[in-house]
Amino acid sequence: MTTTVIVGAGQAGVQVAASLRQEGYRGRVVLVGDEAEQPYERPPLSKAILLGAATEEQIRLRADGFYAANGIELLTGERVTHVDRVQRRLRLAGGGELGWDHLVLATGARPRVLGLPGTGLAGVLPLHSLGDARVLREQLSDARRIVIVGGGFIGLEFASACADKDVVLLEAADRLMGRAVTQPVSAFFAGAHAARGVRIELSIGATEFVGSSGRVTAVRTTRGALHPADLVLVGAGSLPETQLAERAGLAVRDGVLVDSTLRTSDPQVFAVGDCARFPGAHHTAGGTTIRLESVQNAMDQARHVARQIAAGEVSEFRALPWFWSDQKGLGLRIAGLGQGHTQTHVLGDPDAGAFSVLVFREERLVTVESVNRPGDHAAARRILSSGAIVTLRDVAASGFTLKAAARGGTVSTA
Ligand SMILES: Cc1cc2nc3c(=O)[nH]c(=O)nc-3n(C[C@H](O)[C@H](O)[C@H](O)COP(=O)(O)OP(=O)(O)OC[C@H]3O[C@@H](n4cnc5c(N)ncnc54)[C@H](O)[C@@H]3O)c2cc1C
Repeated sequence: MTTTVIVGAGQAGVQVAASLRQEGYRGRVVLVGDEAEQPYERPPLSKAILLGAATEEQIRLRADGFYAANGIELLTGERVTHVDRVQRRLRLAGGGELGWDHLVLATGARPRVLGLPGTGLAGVLPLHSLGDARVLREQLSDARRIVIVGGGFIGLEFASACADKDVVLLEAADRLMGRAVTQPVSAFFAGAHAARGVRIELSIGATEFVGSSGRVTAVRTTRGALHPADLVLVGAGSLPETQLAERAGLAVRDGVLVDSTLRTSDPQVFAVGDCARFPGAHHTAGGTTIRLESVQNAMDQARHVARQIAAGEVSEFRALPWFWSDQKGLGLRIAGLGQGHTQTHVLGDPDAGAFSVLVFREERLVTVESVNRPGDHAAARRILSSGAIVTLRDVAASGFTLKAAARGGTVSTA
């Protein structure tokens, strides 16, 4: 009987374990996670959990009895500290050891720490774990003045949960969510948040967290302004959790490097989810490697690795990336990756709060960003994953809709 050990009991790790059983794997499955809680989903942390619309039980990835019922040995509150690739053993912080035949690294990412003066003050907080969300939710109820550092998904979702507060959001780049969406979507969300009272300052960073008696009282900016704050959310992006892989001598470069089958530089070791950097030839110009932080990517990579382990096969990972974010009742959905895009075309009406931006690279549709148009998102996923080609000329034709294109109306197959 072989043993598969999965390091990291988050979105990807739990899915690897579940999919191994679904695929009929009969070996031993051990899932090791360093967080004390039963494995949980992170997306609700910045949405339903902050708003009090979901309980901690409701965001568990699987019901309590699932692991035992499926023969999955779940070790929570246990950190893997060392991987020996020659002996195929690993060491746990609690002193135990485990042998493995297949090892899957699903160690996720950690929030980027800005290292500014005052970072350690009470009330300066990240939002990554359930523990972070608990503290933020508690402190949010008493806070009146909030400063958010970072205008990415997490900063903006947090802003959405700060109704009736005095909120300032500092973003170092010249637009919101700049790494993830096109200009029209950035501008739309800047307008929507501003209309609901969030003061957005672009091209401005934080330089210092100022405090009194150990608690934050203000944030100083790169322009010298001092914004009073009872609570500061730092949403400055994430870094892949790669320490274990590095110490094990695996190739690492802003992520654990994997090949197109998701194997690391050691073919017995896979890496999946936020920690993995994989070849993006199907999704990017110039075939660069990519690292994605999304539930879809974690789940699809997990399923792909489980299938290979269970069937003893070697196969390429090619799933279409897609993402979502919910901000103040505005549902943003993104299908595909738009890096290196050359043209955009807007369907619908941003002023009416429902539109899609179609993103083209070399005249070919590569990404669709939809705001409150779930039908467009569903159609875009069907088009982009089928390999069908939609051109700028197709969408400029009168009567063009993504739904019709997904049915094969105006497109050709590659
Ligand atoms: C607040 C928030 C909101 C989000 N919202 C969305 C959203 O709306 N849509 C979306 O698609 N994505 C969203 N994401 C991203 C999504 O949650 C991640 O992409 C996903 O969780 C990645 O899964 P993972 O398994 O790779 O990492 P994780 O789920 O982070 O799990 C990794 C686990 O490994 C553990 N670990 C690390 N090292 C070790 C070790 N040595 N030993 C044992 N355990 C270890 C970590 O503690 C962690 O529990 C959000 C993320 C956050 C933080």
